[in-house]
Amino acid sequence: MTVPAAGHRPDATPEGAWAGWLPGRSWPAWTWDPAWREVAVCAAHPDDEVLGVGGTMALLAAAGVRVHLVAVTDGEASHPGSAVRAPADLARARVDESGRALAALGLGDARTTRLGLPDSAVAAHETELVDALTAAFEGADAVLTTWSGDGHPDHDAVGRAAVVAGSRRGLPVWQYPVWTWHWAAPGDPRVPWDSAHQVALPRAVRAAKSTAIDCFTTQIAPLGPDPADAVVLLPEFLAHFGRPHEVLWR
Ligand SMILES: [Zn+2]
Repeated sequence: MTVPAAGHRPDATPEGAWAGWLPGRSWPAWTWDPAWREVAVCAAHPDDEVLGVGGTMALLAAAGVRVHLVAVTDGEASHPGSAVRAPADLARARVDESGRALAALGLGDARTTRLGLPDSAVAAHETELVDALTAAFEGADAVLTTWSGDGHPDHDAVGRAAVVAGSRRGLPVWQYPVWTWHWAAPGDPRVPWDSAHQVALPRAVRAAKSTAIDCFTTQIAPLGPDPADAVVLLPEFLAHFGRPHEVLWR
């Protein structure tokens, strides 16, 4: 996923705090228009799409809605200075992980567009990204994207660009949080809870999402003993993505 600039914070919000707050929210259910044929899902890095909306993608696919994954980077910057994997090698591994994760979600035949922008430098290519997303959204009925306020520069840039590109196409754009669960606190005023919607995940979909997350071995396990090869997604962070629902907002 590529750790945000702030890295893992010692004061991160534990999943237990969210588990005590989220069930009391009366957010409307997010659903799709029966007329939708295709939904474009934007991911800043391989794994964002699964952590944020893996269950939602599985439900869409099961309902016959095509999912078009628009992968903005290949995630080559998750382990700078790695002693065992060069960036290009890491990118290949992460793209492969994303493909296996999609298959675990029943999305093995999902169309994927890889934009190949540089991991950790997406914001420097935002104009180009808006144009690329506008092209990629052809044929889509709606867009799901990382949230523009998620707190990772790449996630934020993808969210901003997707909103502009979606507007050009006249499409509804729904944004999903990933790192927000790490740095925000329940009721945090920086988060647009007022527009939050939730997607309930049936047990089988939760299980498929868990299997999909386990595909990201370069992120959930150390690459090697060197400190530069340490695990990126710690168990306490992954705990946010085992919930029985996902959250989206406008
Ligand atoms: Zn990411």
